[in-house]
Amino acid sequence: MSRVVVVGSFNVDHVWTTATLPRPGETLGGRYATGPGGKGFNQATASARAGAATTFVCALGDDPGGELARRLADADGIDLRAQRSDEPTGTAGIYVDGEGRNSIVIGAGANGVLSPAHVAAQRDAFDAAGVVLAQLESPPAAITAALQAARAGEATTLLNPAPANAPTTRELLALADILTPNETEFAGLVTRHVGERIDGDAVTALDQSRLHALCRELLPAGTVVVTLGASGCFVSHAGDALRGDERPFYRLGAEQVRAVDTTGAGDAFNGALVAALAGGSGVAFAAHLRFASRFAALSTEREGAAASMPRRDEVLERFG
Ligand code: ATP
Repeated sequence: MSRVVVVGSFNVDHVWTTATLPRPGETLGGRYATGPGGKGFNQATASARAGAATTFVCALGDDPGGELARRLADADGIDLRAQRSDEPTGTAGIYVDGEGRNSIVIGAGANGVLSPAHVAAQRDAFDAAGVVLAQLESPPAAITAALQAARAGEATTLLNPAPANAPTTRELLALADILTPNETEFAGLVTRHVGERIDGDAVTALDQSRLHALCRELLPAGTVVVTLGASGCFVSHAGDALRGDERPFYRLGAEQVRAVDTTGAGDAFNGALVAALAGGSGVAFAAHLRFASRFAALSTEREGAAASMPRRDEVLERFG
């Protein structure tokens, strides 16, 4: 079993649940909750709870949010490599309405100053890593440094290109062995980098060979996993790298669960997938995906982001 290194963001989430989303000039009352979040930390928590020895590289402020990150990482046995910043720890203000729609404002704070030098200084972790995972809530130079360090150490690289509005270049994408966009992110990447305008809402209904062709253009040498929420995911491999699968492309359905909060389902999926990849060689990619999809499904049965991540034992107990 090799190590997982996750490079990315930590946020303190502030969540207000209101009947409607606030309009300009409007003051509303609502239920308030706070908890840990940030795509990087959610994914690191998922990886650790899925059973992988996990290092999390991030930037934190010298404030209560930073202290929270340290305490929680410690509780989940995560090896935390935090750059200390004069900026405040990242925050997210989230409004959720009665129909589950949300509006989010991110205060990047320390996440926005994570430096390539701090990332590169974690060389020992990258050298011990089997898989390195990054997202796009950190500066592009820091993400590039992480994926390059991973490649130098011969780790598998996984890039979760989220959020959808983050800038990307073809050079950055090409550093990923595995790319895991959701439908909206996939549509944005195809529009920007393949030059074909597709609608995120239409991705699930696209013909599989058409989806495969778009994935091949987007990441010619790597695997693309498009996550489709409750519809599961679509997988497309490069022809000469099937990762133990029999087919170059296929759909995998999601597990049937009683979802109450799908926030962080994508993070659960990514963290569990890297943990599975780090844990098992000689196993078909589809088996790793099945574990990730079960893990993510269980995470939707609980509220919260990082806090909603299940543990490996719970996944095995529930699904065998
Ligand atoms: P988020 O932004 O909410 O964290 P995402 O949009 O990045 O999520 P999704 O595609 O919604 O990611 O979900 C990732 C995976 O989680 C799916 O491929 C699926 O396996 C699982 N999943 C998501 N929603 C459900 C659900 N309602 N029931 C079962 N599994 C789900």
